[in-house]
Amino acid sequence: MAERTLIKNISIVNEGKITLTDILIVEGLIQKIGKQEDPIARLIDGTGKYLLPGIIDGQVHFRDPGLTHKGDLYTESKAAIAGGVTSFIDMPNTSPNVLSMDILNEKYRIAADKSLANFGFFLGVNGDNLDEVIKLDTSGLLGVSDDGLYFTKKGNLLADNPATMEKLFANCSAVIAIHSEKEQIVEENENIYREKYGENVPVEFHPVIRSEKACYEATKRAIEIAEKHNARLHILHLTTEAETHLFRNDIPLREKKITTEVSVHHLWFSDKDYKRLGTLIKWNPAIKTEKDKEGLLNALLDDRIDIVTTDHAPHTLEEKQKPYFQAMSGAPIVQHSLNIMLEFHKQGRISLEKIVEKMCHNPAILYQIERRGFVREGYFADLTIVDLNSPWTVSKENTLSKCGWSPLEGTTFQGKVTHTIVNGNLVYEEGQFNESEKGKALVKTTMRH
Ligand SMILES: [Zn+2]
Repeated sequence: MAERTLIKNISIVNEGKITLTDILIVEGLIQKIGKQEDPIARLIDGTGKYLLPGIIDGQVHFRDPGLTHKGDLYTESKAAIAGGVTSFIDMPNTSPNVLSMDILNEKYRIAADKSLANFGFFLGVNGDNLDEVIKLDTSGLLGVSDDGLYFTKKGNLLADNPATMEKLFANCSAVIAIHSEKEQIVEENENIYREKYGENVPVEFHPVIRSEKACYEATKRAIEIAEKHNARLHILHLTTEAETHLFRNDIPLREKKITTEVSVHHLWFSDKDYKRLGTLIKWNPAIKTEKDKEGLLNALLDDRIDIVTTDHAPHTLEEKQKPYFQAMSGAPIVQHSLNIMLEFHKQGRISLEKIVEKMCHNPAILYQIERRGFVREGYFADLTIVDLNSPWTVSKENTLSKCGWSPLEGTTFQGKVTHTIVNGNLVYEEGQFNESEKGKALVKTTMRH
């Protein structure tokens, strides 16, 4: 890889503006933004294309270690890179669950060997390790989370345990990212439908079982407890219009103590799609109604929702294509998150500047990530180049996640990622990968972006 790369005549989307100019990368960093020549740099012609800060995905499940038949840090980071995602934060429900600093540090070691994208990891927290977590100095951690841990042990979701939340929120200064559903309500609903249909509950009832009420009550309660303790709470993957009204947009993200996100599939799919896609779009929390889908996009646009994530969660087709209760929840989607948002842009529903704010700037602000998420001189050269007029269709063959399928198969997107640059290295170009350099660990900063 050349130490110097000059991208010429490209429209840079950054901090609310689009500027047609050049950008010089030297030794992994953005050296100079502006019209320039450089006789020894590798040249990339950006004519007609847009350059964005690399996408930072704040919620993925890359399955490494322990569940690597579904995906691993190499395969899933490769899928991420092909979709313009240069950094990710991975959830703690790998095997063993990330319930100690030793296991967390082990994940960083594995990722340094295998990941093509930059990486960060949540420390897991639940009733089992609560006392250890509140004793820790969490100032260097990106965040703590209970997401996915309930798969291994029912009844351990923070949202179901107000006493655990009280103690954690009172004693932990890190970002506390929670999966917000009341499992008791879900179980009551499950029993109603099991009585009626046995094990073969039609998947269309998934959003009625994992209901709006289960989400709303959990989120409302968590926010009340967080406010009482002035805790730094982040509600993961919001799914209902009702919940969006629990969040503020009258202060900037930097000042918020309570934040939230939407995952792309909850913007893209609705309950109309269960007939066509069945358990392939079984997610927790569930895909809900058209009204919820519209409400989520509106809340993203008016800043009640702060960031866009994927909750990328590969499972094999065999694990997905089972009767309702046994079918795994989650699906691979990290490769297509930017495509989905660019498609909304094509439809005139969101600006490129807003996409960059929600997928690049805001994750860096929310998780206090050092020198990433913006196109700025002195920042890491994590950059994504897109062609907005290059239609292509998702297929099994071009889906890179190890599980080898996508709920978006057959979907044609108008825009395409053509280049992905990570720490100054051109890792992806027009379908080809350069895997010589691995990604770096995300560092938490105390400075403000
Ligand atoms: Zn998740």
